[in-house]
Amino acid sequence: MSDREVVLAAEGLRAGYGDILAIWDANIEIRRGEVTGLLGRNGAGKSTIFRALAGLATVQAGTVTWRGDDITALPPFKRAARGLAVVQEGKRIFRQRSIEENLLLGGFSTRLGRKALAGRVKTMYERFPVLADRRHEHAGGLSGGQQQMLAIAQALMSGPSAILLDEPTAGLAPSIVAEVLGVVTRLGREEGLAVLLIEQDVELVADIVTSATVLELGRAVYHGPPDPAAIRAAMEAVHAPRGTA
Ligand code: ATP
Repeated sequence: MSDREVVLAAEGLRAGYGDILAIWDANIEIRRGEVTGLLGRNGAGKSTIFRALAGLATVQAGTVTWRGDDITALPPFKRAARGLAVVQEGKRIFRQRSIEENLLLGGFSTRLGRKALAGRVKTMYERFPVLADRRHEHAGGLSGGQQQMLAIAQALMSGPSAILLDEPTAGLAPSIVAEVLGVVTRLGREEGLAVLLIEQDVELVADIVTSATVLELGRAVYHGPPDPAAIRAAMEAVHAPRGTA
């Protein structure tokens, strides 16, 4: 395992919806400068862990820590103030607002002055040139891939040290998937953020993530290198009929 700093972690996490327990005794570590993949089938509990890390789910047991501090009871905006950014599935952008307004709204919570915010917007345009070209257009007119880029850029406007992305490639054309994953890779490997990338397709992210955690039926069944064969074996072991594993 890597010796890089653990920025965000969950231990023994239990959370669900009413009587439905979606995750129990789930663990994960997200390290600085790395892209941690969170993999697992439909309904395995990936989005529930995401919500618990973001402060959006009620945690029934276990702890969430930020640089070693217990933040389990902190609301989302206080986690954001510490440096946690989230990109929820389904592109949470303001479709009726312009691209530039979306970026400025992303930086709202920082309380930065107008000049500093404008500097951050400029950095986003350098990083995502497609957004610069269309800065005054409605965000709703962007393609799916471009909207996802905007959602990521909006999250980065707060200047986070960790970012969580829930299936950022879901529903995107194959031609744009590599581009979105390229952005995610650079955030971790080049810019030093602690990145959590939720995806279903092991093959898709095997070359991108630094390490993988695999969830099955609400529990982590694998922590280790993103080796597709080892991950598939761990997933299949959970679903094998009794006596055949
Ligand atoms: P997917 O890849 O389909 O998004 P996931 O791995 O993210 O799946 P979760 O969305 O965390 O899984 O769901 C875990 C379990 O919790 C599933 O059994 C799901 O049906 C259930 N669940 C999720 N959201 C709700 C909800 N709002 N109300 C009730 N049950 C829910």
